Amino acid sequence: MFRKFHIIGLVALSALSLNAQKIKNTQLARPKLVVGLVVDQMRWDYLYRFYGKYGEDGFKRLLNKGYSLNNVHINYVPTVTALGHTSIYTGSVPAIHGIAGNDWTDRTTGKNVYCTTDESVQPVGTTNTKVGSHSPKNLWSTTVTDELRLATNFQAKVVGVSLKDRASILPAGHNPNGAYWFDDSNGNFVTSSYYMKDLPQWMKNFNAQNLPEKLVANGWNTLLPISEYTESSPDNSSWEGLLGSAVTPTFPYSNLAKDYQTKKDNIRYTPFGNTLTLKLAEASIEGEDLGKDQITDFLAVNLASTDYAGHKFGPNSIEVEDVYLRLDRDLADFFKYLDAKIGKDQYTVFLSADHGGAHAEGFMEAHKMATGFFGENAEKTLNTLLNTKYKYDKLVMGIDNYQIYLDQNYMKANNLNSTEVADYLVDELNKDQTVLFAVNLKKVGEAPIPEPLKTRVINGYNWQRSGDIQLISHDSMLPPYSKTGTTHSVWNSYDSHIPLIFMGWGIKNGESNKDYNMTDIAPTLSSLLKIQFPSGNIGNPIVEVLGK
Ligand SMILES: [Zn+2]
Repeated sequence: MFRKFHIIGLVALSALSLNAQKIKNTQLARPKLVVGLVVDQMRWDYLYRFYGKYGEDGFKRLLNKGYSLNNVHINYVPTVTALGHTSIYTGSVPAIHGIAGNDWTDRTTGKNVYCTTDESVQPVGTTNTKVGSHSPKNLWSTTVTDELRLATNFQAKVVGVSLKDRASILPAGHNPNGAYWFDDSNGNFVTSSYYMKDLPQWMKNFNAQNLPEKLVANGWNTLLPISEYTESSPDNSSWEGLLGSAVTPTFPYSNLAKDYQTKKDNIRYTPFGNTLTLKLAEASIEGEDLGKDQITDFLAVNLASTDYAGHKFGPNSIEVEDVYLRLDRDLADFFKYLDAKIGKDQYTVFLSADHGGAHAEGFMEAHKMATGFFGENAEKTLNTLLNTKYKYDKLVMGIDNYQIYLDQNYMKANNLNSTEVADYLVDELNKDQTVLFAVNLKKVGEAPIPEPLKTRVINGYNWQRSGDIQLISHDSMLPPYSKTGTTHSVWNSYDSHIPLIFMGWGIKNGESNKDYNMTDIAPTLSSLLKIQFPSGNIGNPIVEVLGK
């Protein structure tokens, strides 16, 4: 009897150790770290317009060692920041994930809402409530970063960093280890009580270095001799905006250090905002021990200065070119850092953009391309028009994201048929020479507008948060606030065609001209990591990038 037990015991023991061995050998293979690099307002064509000026180890390393998708479009309108970051990380669209604009009007309360404002949370690292009271509470879907946390019983670490609150908060999802953004009032990176009670020591140390001040200390001059910027318009072009106290839009920007002291947001418009963000990315890897153990971590980085510079100077300015050339060098340093810290081929990077940007109106005009402005005083004009018919001069509450919001409460109280009012306005708007289509958003399905516009309008229409009428302007027509520089928001390729490159662990080398959507990024990452798709996902994994 004893002997029998003994044998059974031995068998059980060896089975146990065999099992342990098996578990060890069958440990799921995953990268140590995933780094998302979302370059704000990066048009796809910037990869190639500046190709000859890039070094070997930044954008070219991604292109030559990674897998580049040349035809990725944003499959909704409006193509703006908060929606781009959210759709990349959720694999979903505004109709489903709830982030319907950077700002929107809540249909039930009639209140204007900023996408990440949350008055129930307190600022951390700043006393400025406007800067610090933010959270992802308006985000309805999970993100790929949420799913990684869920898949690993919250052992995977997730951190989001950006100059912009929304571009840090929305990618990092509902339960990250931290999300940090820049506070123009004190020059520090801050967070909110949604995430933590106090900034971690590593972040305090990072802020104490006063890096922004050091980065702008020598002003901003071009990286290469200015005569070599043959890809861009002359430095002093009338359609460029002015930076800080500069009186012309020209290099060198010698007052930058002083301008930064006066108004700290000046760093945002310069390449140094990107340098700062990548330095913070490195500090968060060190501070949170990202990529140190076998459990995959995720660092979501947004490079926002490209967007600020684009808005101010326009895509064809030397300023924007210089921002990209310097970002290229910063990326090369960052990849070198990751090689040393995480290990070459131990991490996966993807680079994409939240949206592109139109050429400046003045630039297009000067080169005989169709362009112009639309919607100047639109709210007033439309209300005057509606007043004649309905005897009320505030039916249009506002125009946001190229969508007209009608006062639903007023119409209800006064027995006005809202569909009839919207249809009347649509008919009137369609007579406007600057409007390509105006569509009653409740009836997009039956509107005679071509694909892919129709699908993009439907994908962008959130029943609780979007407006009543979608305006689609003629190509390259800009809203009046962009008299210098540029903006973005529309369906056209200049706004919707984005770069997408994967590189590193689990990624093949190559490129493809097949059509994909922004919403395919998250499910591709989910497939790479063998985790669940985000809850609102409508995309498909891009299988051709996966493998060795
Ligand atoms: Zn923008």
